Amino acid sequence: MYDLIGIGGGPAGLTATIYAIRKRLNVLLVSRDLGGKTNYSLSLPWIEDYQVVRGLEVVNKFKSELEYLKFARLLQAVERVERRPEGFAVFTEEGRELLTRAVIIATGTRQKFLSVPGERDFMMRGLCYSATSYAPLFIDRKTVVVGDGELALRSTAELATVAKHVHLVGVNPDALELPLGQKLKAAENVTILQDYQVVEVKGNGYAERIMVKAPDGHADQIEAEGTFIEIGLIPNSKMVEDLVNLDPQGRIVVDCLAQTSVPGIFAAGDVTDIYAEQVLVAVGEGAKAALSAYDYLLPLL
Ligand SMILES: Cc1cc2nc3c(=O)[nH]c(=O)nc-3n(C[C@H](O)[C@H](O)[C@H](O)COP(=O)(O)OP(=O)(O)OC[C@H]3O[C@@H](n4cnc5c(N)ncnc54)[C@H](O)[C@@H]3O)c2cc1C
Repeated sequence: MYDLIGIGGGPAGLTATIYAIRKRLNVLLVSRDLGGKTNYSLSLPWIEDYQVVRGLEVVNKFKSELEYLKFARLLQAVERVERRPEGFAVFTEEGRELLTRAVIIATGTRQKFLSVPGERDFMMRGLCYSATSYAPLFIDRKTVVVGDGELALRSTAELATVAKHVHLVGVNPDALELPLGQKLKAAENVTILQDYQVVEVKGNGYAERIMVKAPDGHADQIEAEGTFIEIGLIPNSKMVEDLVNLDPQGRIVVDCLAQTSVPGIFAAGDVTDIYAEQVLVAVGEGAKAALSAYDYLLPLL
């Protein structure tokens, strides 16, 4: 029986696990990989060194500690978590059943893809999914945002503060009625292509243009040095969907102590309803979840 099982080896889960090891808890991290989304970074022809805030030093330090501490990690995917009288059972896709007194869910989110030709070829090579992280790299550049809702509006607004031009493709008319939508309609460096559809991403080594179809069916292309797919994120919360409270987007609802609606189940990072999706936020939330789980466990140790 473990004291604590962390599920998910991104910034939140790695930090939580290292904190738990320091507290001398009998802890296991179960994850598909170590590093999570920090294993991916955007490559651009004009950028040699990253100028974005990533906190990679801390994440990589925790990652290499766990690569070394083989007893504290299990590289498997988790299928579901169930209650047990003495705590919880964690079931992996490979058929393992692991018993624990407490759990931290830190499984992050996954992107929604456009699923058009060229998207996978240029992923993270001029085409990416996080304007919040990368907009500052596009000073005076031509950019495209693809998406129909508020996330796309927000990304367009952020890029418009630095980029030469932003094409917003596929936005929903209702979203344009929001205050941010109204502002973008009036912005000189924003072109809104409402109800257009992206059919292909093309380029040479890096994404360079996207092929679109207008509502009347005619084909067109937009040159872009940066393409941002902003159609949303899906939280990886399925394993506890019948146990804890989720918000309408499927994110795990947590309080300021990283507690879910079920005592003994904690959650941290992008899979939760906290603001915002950034590495250093996830690191902080992971630390908080581990300390909170430790307080929960103290009377049981
Ligand atoms: C393209 C892109 C670029 C980004 N760039 C930046 C940046 O420059 N700066 C910045 O601060 N933020 C950036 N972000 C955001 C940042 O990466 C995330 O906020 C951060 O990684 C969240 O950490 P996390 O631990 O919550 O989740 P994740 O990093 O998503 O980690 C989740 C972990 O859970 C594991 N997992 C998922 N499901 C299961 C399962 N069923 N069983 C077992 N394991 C599972 C995964 O394998 C992974 O290890 C970027 C995001 C994207 C998508």
